[in-house]
Amino acid sequence: MDEATARLALVAAMHELDARGLNHGSSGNASIRVDDRLIVTPTGIPSAVLTAADMVLIDLDGRPGRPGQRRPTSEWPLHVRLARARPDATAIVHTHSPEATAASTLRRPVPAVHYVVARFGATELPCAPYATYGTDELADHVVGTLGDRGTACLMANHGAIAIGPDLGAALALAVEVEWLCGVARRARQLGEPVALDAAEIERVAERLATYGQPEGAPP
Ligand SMILES: [Zn+2]
Repeated sequence: MDEATARLALVAAMHELDARGLNHGSSGNASIRVDDRLIVTPTGIPSAVLTAADMVLIDLDGRPGRPGQRRPTSEWPLHVRLARARPDATAIVHTHSPEATAASTLRRPVPAVHYVVARFGATELPCAPYATYGTDELADHVVGTLGDRGTACLMANHGAIAIGPDLGAALALAVEVEWLCGVARRARQLGEPVALDAAEIERVAERLATYGQPEGAPP
């Protein structure tokens, strides 16, 4: 993906997160890796008015890619450190979505109340420890919580993050995180939900690997 396409894709993603109620105002942020640099959303601009020109180019040390740009999201250390740690994270989506943020205040994993957890590269939805927003410490917590395989986690008393091979995949995971947290909350209101065990989640992960239409299938 070239830089111009990445900028437009980020704007569309931020609009969609806003429209779905996963972010509000200028909360949340996203990035796409283009070659060895990142295009990230700017800080402090409501999603509804973002344009491609507002997106910010930074290198993998967080330095501005060119002069005269907007200031990058305050969570740029999170994007930079995650992009360095996970070469498979071409896109990163961070939300303050309400169900996930509420779940994050419990500071514990969301159990596998549904098999969709298998999409997160883990047997439950983990929760990264708390640190002040925008700090290297928070970025390191998230990198450590996702490890080598994780694709999404909660961030204690803050929100959620999802990574993917492209922006569509990361966005879809952010939606799944929010949905799972909503299901878990409703289930707890009804009683004591039964969680799927690790062996079942591993089985589902194997099935999901071949889910969907095969490559080259007729339309
Ligand atoms: Zn945040």
